[in-house]
Amino acid sequence: MSTYKGTILVVEDEEKIARVLELELEYEGYSVTKVIDGLEALEAYRTGSWDLILLDVMLPGLSGIELLRRIRKNDILTPVILLTAKSSVEDKVSGLDLGANDYITKPFQIEELLARIRAALRIKIVEQPHNDSDLLRFADLSIDQKSREVIRAGEPIELTPREFDLLVYLMVHKRQVLSRDQILEAVWGYDFLGDTNVVDVYIRYVRKKLDLPHLPALIHTVRGVGYVMKDTK
Ligand code: CA
Repeated sequence: MSTYKGTILVVEDEEKIARVLELELEYEGYSVTKVIDGLEALEAYRTGSWDLILLDVMLPGLSGIELLRRIRKNDILTPVILLTAKSSVEDKVSGLDLGANDYITKPFQIEELLARIRAALRIKIVEQPHNDSDLLRFADLSIDQKSREVIRAGEPIELTPREFDLLVYLMVHKRQVLSRDQILEAVWGYDFLGDTNVVDVYIRYVRKKLDLPHLPALIHTVRGVGYVMKDTK
């Protein structure tokens, strides 16, 4: 047994594969919970705390893709690796578009899967330098995702749930230029029936609260493209 490395939710309805994953991952030092059904997985996701989710696409109850979509509505941080069938290019593409961190095609070599898991967990740690999975920091801004507290230059900022999700998304993707479509999909989800103006409206709301006149702006407009969070220093 290796030292403890984190908790993994394994969502896989093929008992044999699920069992192998459990054995191998536990041997590597991960704590594993197996579920075999999409709805059961959603419940486990909501009630547990996971460092990573291994998600089969073809599931009874709720498909892996639909499950991923629901997870990513409010949670863009927990790494998700999809287990896909070799033939399904479509699943891979929509999975990555929906915010899966990676995918692996069945049948797979366990060593490759372990390497992908390590990579996904490393990225998560890099994004959260304090190794406190709920705290995001950038410049003089900090966001506690658990308590939903936002503090800029020592002052608390009150945000609505949607404004909060938007700010978290910008923060996680700091220094990356994000298009309105990207922001819309990540924060509002694919089923949002409206136009991308809503992004501009909410950016304006968040800026008004965040980028006060006496502070350097953190949210910048990239003309013709979208928005980027960066400090100008
Ligand atoms: Ca399956």
